[in-house]
Amino acid sequence: MFDTLSDRLTSVLQNLRGKGKLSEADIDATAREIRIALLEADVALPVVREFIKQVKDRAKGAEVSQALNPAQQVIKIVNEELVAILGGETRRINLAKNPPSVIMLAGLQGSGKTTLAGKLALWLRKQGHAPLLVACDLQRPNAVTQLQVVGERAGVTTFAPEPGNGVGDPVEVARRSIDEARRAQHDVVIVDTAGRLGVDEELMRQAADIRDAITPDETLFVVDAMIGQDAVTTAEAFRDGVGFSGVVLTKLDGDARGGAALSVRHVTGQPILFASNGEKLEDFDVFHPDRMASRILGMGDMLTLIEQAEQAFDQEKAEQAAAKLGTGELTLEDFLEQMQAVRRMGPIGNLLGMLPGAGQMKDQLAQVDDAHLDRLQAIIRGMTPAERANPKMINASRRQRIARGSGVTVRDVNDLVNRFFEARKMMQQMAGRFGFGMGASATK
Ligand code: GDP
Repeated sequence: MFDTLSDRLTSVLQNLRGKGKLSEADIDATAREIRIALLEADVALPVVREFIKQVKDRAKGAEVSQALNPAQQVIKIVNEELVAILGGETRRINLAKNPPSVIMLAGLQGSGKTTLAGKLALWLRKQGHAPLLVACDLQRPNAVTQLQVVGERAGVTTFAPEPGNGVGDPVEVARRSIDEARRAQHDVVIVDTAGRLGVDEELMRQAADIRDAITPDETLFVVDAMIGQDAVTTAEAFRDGVGFSGVVLTKLDGDARGGAALSVRHVTGQPILFASNGEKLEDFDVFHPDRMASRILGMGDMLTLIEQAEQAFDQEKAEQAAAKLGTGELTLEDFLEQMQAVRRMGPIGNLLGMLPGAGQMKDQLAQVDDAHLDRLQAIIRGMTPAERANPKMINASRRQRIARGSGVTVRDVNDLVNRFFEARKMMQQMAGRFGFGMGASATK
């Protein structure tokens, strides 16, 4: 996602960097390039116009002409305007003061609503909420079962009409789910509604009836970022037909050009609350306009990376490992644990993509894959606890056994063991120089 746009914008802005003073012609040329890049990324025309106008007006004004470094100032303006187009401040989800809070999902069939219901439920559950999923898509065969499966995976209860007892009315199901939430003390209700392949009146009417029956605290319009320009027309139809208070972008992991993400907020006037970027329930996050902008401009997304790390790493274990570094006691078991923590943060390619400058290192990054890490983990798992704790004992015959057991060559095992020793030595030297490890743990 955003790769082409990101490449284009990064190179346009890089061209500016070398220049001391900027002429009007420089600014016009830059604006023209940015305009082409946005249009090629499928950003809606009115959004492109507005964006270019803002950037040009500001770039020709005093803040640039009086700046010490005009080029840097233009980059800053482009970044700020990108953040503004994406919605400015991060908008948090609104939960009611008096539970249950009601969140209704609306969108076309296939936009990712049901998957999102599970993602949202898991995300809320991790924050201590007790969500109830409600199946109001009674048209698509299997929709109810699909929601139940997703609910099970997220570890939450699903409320669905019992088959055969005549409940075929989604409005009635929605209404009853609120009573059920009160009875069973669920503090958030997430209502999945029916979608159609295209926008149609009946679909809108049904969604509006459900809305009137349950007065949601949030109505989220779920839109597939891969549908490009259509995202805008669909969003307008849902805005007029049902109304919504926020947008969720799905399939941001796809190779679409990203125009939907950049247009939807501006066109509908409603903020993007969440972004979905994969089929797994964990592939989901709050949408931060500022982080998305710096990702698009190739400045990386360090904040998201840090937050994911905080969630994935067990603080205590990480500190124990750090303390061992200085003493040279780090074992392969510690190594395995740290590697597993990294893996919990998501596919390695996604993680590396968030680093600043990652866009320009794509070829190197493509070589770091999950399969490689899987192989390293398999090798360590093939070792006995004694071997993991004391890698020095891993002699030639042990190496052969480990290779056989984990389905790799002896050379792979040698590589891993040698690298481990090198890394341990290097860390020990660094620890000595910077005073962490043993010293740090002794002062605690
Ligand atoms: P619904 O008809 O709106 O309920 O859509 P579904 O939740 O059934 O999703 C439609 C398809 O899109 C399914 O195959 C999902 O696995 C897939 N999907 C949903 N969200 C994402 C996402 O963020 N990324 C990717 N790659 N696929 C997704």
